[in-house]
Formats: sequence, structure tokens, C-alpha cells
Amino acid sequence: MKRAPALAVIWLVLAGGLPAMAKAGDACDLALQLLGADYERLPAQGRDECSVPDPVRLKRLSPEIALPGEPVLQCDTARAMALWADRMLKPAAAMMPGAPRLTAIRTGPGHVCRDRVGTGKDDPKPSEHSTGSAIDVTAFEFDNGATIAIEPREGDMQTAYQAAARAGACLFFTTVLGPGANAAHDDHLHLDMAERNGGWRLCQ
Ligand SMILES: [Zn+2]
Repeated sequence: MKRAPALAVIWLVLAGGLPAMAKAGDACDLALQLLGADYERLPAQGRDECSVPDPVRLKRLSPEIALPGEPVLQCDTARAMALWADRMLKPAAAMMPGAPRLTAIRTGPGHVCRDRVGTGKDDPKPSEHSTGSAIDVTAFEFDNGATIAIEPREGDMQTAYQAAARAGACLFFTTVLGPGANAAHDDHLHLDMAERNGGWRLCQ
């Protein structure tokens, strides 16, 4: 029982709940460091509608899990990714035959200046990628040499892992789109931290 207060503080830090004690950026740094992430603080990225507040280049989510794409993200998105990996992806991997360990997540570049897919020329809306709030995940790699690429799947253990990863992501991100949501997302999971009225989350 003596450890409970310390654990509560660590959870508050990881979840970003210590605004009174630390600036947002400091709390995010602390959370990434507690999770063992490897990242680099970057100067301001982009401009106007395509600028990233609080940017980091994320190289590893933890000592075990590499991000070969080294995406550029808002620190909050980087923290959400590191928590998702620690709390969902690692334990889910251990449930598969042979209990492989997750060693890498393949991603897109994170920050990209472009409009949202499906918005027209007359009414373009910047993508969440424009502000570094979004990350595209294309595959998971394991220490037994296996890779699970995101794709429409059915009926096997890889399907179960992909489904667990996707459902679990909605606890950490406010938008989760993947195969079946629409044709543009058949080969990756799109995850972002968009803020919507009433805290609405879009998980499809
Ligand atoms: Zn995306």
C-alpha cells in the first residue's frame, strides 16, 4: 500500500494530468522519459496552417520498441503513442503463441502538409497530419521475425492482434481509422488527437 501514492503520481504524469506542477511540455517530456522513449526536441516546424506546436522527432517508444520512420509529432501525440505501446501493444503481443515481443512499429512521417482526404478543392480542410497531431501506423514487427502489416484481415491470430491494437488505440487517441473505415485506410491505422465538441471520439 505504501507504493500507491507514488504510482498515482506516475500515472498522473504519464496521462498528462499535472498542469499545476509543470508546464505542458515539461510534463510530456517527463512522461516520455518515464516510458523510456528516445526522442529529440525540435525547433518550431512549418508555418501557418501547417505548423507543429511542441514538436519532437520520436525514434523509440521504449528501449525495446523502435520507430524506424522517426516521425515528427506534437509531444502529446508522441506520449499517446508511447502509452498505447506500453499498455496495449506489449501485453497483447505476449498473448500470441510463443509470446513474441514487439520490437518495432512502422509508421509514416507524422507531420505532413496536406489537406484531409475527401475534402474538396472548394472546401479544403487541413489534415491532422498538418499539425503533427496524427500518425499513420503500417505494421508491427516482433522479435521472432514476424510482421503484422495493417490490412483487411479475417480469422487468424494476426487479425486478433490488429483488432486489439485498433480498439485499444481509441483509449489514447480521439480518432482511429483503419481497414474498412474507407478505401484510403485499408493499409494503415490513422491515429490522431483531434479535439471535438463534447469530447467525441471517432473510432471506426
Ligand atoms: Zn493519417
